[in-house]
Amino acid sequence: MTITLSTPVEELHRELPRVGVKTAKVLANAVASYCGVYEGSPKVEDLLSYLPIRYEDRSNLARVRDLGNGMEASVVLEVRVVGSYKVGRNGKHKIFELLGVDATGHVRAYWWNQEFLERVLKRGQRVILYGRWKYDYYRKSLAVENPEYELVEDDFEAGEIHTGRRVPIYRKLGEIRTKQMRSLMHRLLQQLDLSDMQELLPPELCERYGLPAKSQAIRYVHFPQDDVPIELYNAFKSPAHKRLVFEEFFLLLLALALRRADRKRNPKSAVIKVDDRIRDIIRLILPFRLTEAQKRVVEEIVADMSSPYPMNRLLQGDVGSGKTIVAAQAIAVAVENGYQAALMVPTEILAEQHAHNLSRLYEKVGYRVGLLTGSLKSREKRLLQQAIRNGEVSLTIGTHALIQEGVEFKNLALVVIDEQHRFGVLQRAELIKRGYNPDVLVMTATPIPRSLAMTVYGDLDLSVIDQLPPGRTPVYTCVRTEAARDRIYSFILSELRQGRQCYIVYPLVEESEKVDLLAATRMAEQLQKGVFREFVVGLLHGKMKQSEKEEVMQRFVANQINVLVSTTVIEVGIDVPNASVMLIEHAERFGLSQLHQLRGRVGRGAAKSYCILMASEPKSEEATERLAIMEKTTDGFEIAEKDLELRGPGELMGTRQSGEQLFRVANPIRDRELLDLARKEVDLLLKIKGASLFSLSKYLQTQPRYRLSQVG
Ligand code: ADP
Ligand code: MG
Repeated sequence: MTITLSTPVEELHRELPRVGVKTAKVLANAVASYCGVYEGSPKVEDLLSYLPIRYEDRSNLARVRDLGNGMEASVVLEVRVVGSYKVGRNGKHKIFELLGVDATGHVRAYWWNQEFLERVLKRGQRVILYGRWKYDYYRKSLAVENPEYELVEDDFEAGEIHTGRRVPIYRKLGEIRTKQMRSLMHRLLQQLDLSDMQELLPPELCERYGLPAKSQAIRYVHFPQDDVPIELYNAFKSPAHKRLVFEEFFLLLLALALRRADRKRNPKSAVIKVDDRIRDIIRLILPFRLTEAQKRVVEEIVADMSSPYPMNRLLQGDVGSGKTIVAAQAIAVAVENGYQAALMVPTEILAEQHAHNLSRLYEKVGYRVGLLTGSLKSREKRLLQQAIRNGEVSLTIGTHALIQEGVEFKNLALVVIDEQHRFGVLQRAELIKRGYNPDVLVMTATPIPRSLAMTVYGDLDLSVIDQLPPGRTPVYTCVRTEAARDRIYSFILSELRQGRQCYIVYPLVEESEKVDLLAATRMAEQLQKGVFREFVVGLLHGKMKQSEKEEVMQRFVANQINVLVSTTVIEVGIDVPNASVMLIEHAERFGLSQLHQLRGRVGRGAAKSYCILMASEPKSEEATERLAIMEKTTDGFEIAEKDLELRGPGELMGTRQSGEQLFRVANPIRDRELLDLARKEVDLLLKIKGASLFSLSKYLQTQPRYRLSQVG
């Protein structure tokens, strides 16, 4: 039997020697969760898209004699001595130490808190260690901390696959470690039959860019060819990498372009016009002068709404840039044309806030605003749903569940989705299925580079508010440790005494949810009884009843609560301009975008605002970097770029949670140039070929990944 790209991973045990039923199953599960394959079981093709994270040239490995202080290298060693000992206060940490030798000298390696290594690395064994070697002046030898290790067994594979050549290093996938993965891939590639594989890129194009055939690229990207510098492989810029990356961009962009074209074939039913009467009404509801950027995006949105085709627009604007008022105008346009609008948000607290503010805004024009949340009594809910069905409610506000729950509208013409950081939550398809083909406006505070936005947000058009309302000063941000706690509290006290308010935010990690909640609750109590006794301390977290949450929030808005201790439920959208200090506990646990969002809760008024990032020691290198970025800049754009660099685009865009990963081999930041190139080629292809792309578009339809389930 032969293996092809479409052989299910689950069945590999039938074809590959030394792979059992269990391993195949474990592998299939791991691949499925890595790729986000949700239709059918993962195929060999999916497995092969699990690329090495780096490559090592083991054709001539370093020897101990060649190592220098600060050098990163792998060395083959024979284990001579091993042992464990405790360090730290109360012997909290356990170190496992190894002394290894080769013919030219000896070195040491340490691992922190990895007791299981006692069972793995034993005297007499041969092992490859990889890491950064440093001179240990105390022991007078080179040493490495937490190196990667790989046992060298004298089996038939050792010489053929794992040493004496360039080898791939994989990140552990599920249970499967790099060495096992390497031998698996090697045997798989040996038996892989690529004769019926479809070459999707036009051959003429590959020739022009010197891209290798796909069959070659698939092999080389795992086991590098010798005539290309290994540095290119390690930079993910080898011809093999380029070929696979380019193809991924090309197909995605083509799928998007085809879908955009498709949209123009589906006119909407609502007819929207903007005349002087409507302009006057909008002027009437505006509480302040719009910034130039706000005016511009309103024009863009209104132009879309007036067109015969449904709007599909992403409104991007940093935290506090004033997206709400822009949406409010779009809603007024829909309502004045005799239609209904819906505003969907990620949290009930935000829904509540919007309902509160927008009801006030629309008081003068008499729109009925309905707030549909889980906390409504069933009778209230029934009445509200009826009013929505009759068209008595102009604007319905709720969480994303609003559409899924099947609320019926009389004539829904506009859907605004606020604070959408992740796509895939609402699908246009879902709306159409329910009989609506409305204008859709998606708002997000996650600024992403334009080219990337076009890619990850599919066929959404883009509007950007690139200007903050007047009178804002950047939030002063600093990182502090426990040692500064007393001083921080006195500072907060002085702000409170000037009439300002403060947020204290606690992280909430799912695994330790109970403990975290307890910590936040205790903190609130302690602060109330202690330092802040002359003020009112409130507590807000996701596990509270909706009515309690609402009450706390309203009291905070009304400045009856001065200090709000909360979990990240306040992360998005909350707008209390009088709050001037934010203290974030365990700031090292938050990601950059999240910190930026949180910080965006202060600095919304005229007063100087502060964000204090409390971080416990020791922090990881990455955490330190993250916090330093927060200190350095308040520019959402810069922060998003750094976030992309640190975490990779998949996680930022939340694609991992929402089904198929959009990119497997490509990284739109790292591979920007190829992305631009692919865009150029797709445009060209559509111009010259147009309708004759039929076969390719049919192929794309069969690929869940390119069917694009995100908004739109
Ligand atoms: P975000 O874009 O983060 O959703 P909001 O819409 O909540 O921002 O607006 C932030 C704050 O700025 C609100 O208090 C809002 O009233 C105020 N604001 C928005 N636009 C302007 C403007 N043009 N002039 C003055 N204040 C504004
Ligand atoms: Mg907002």
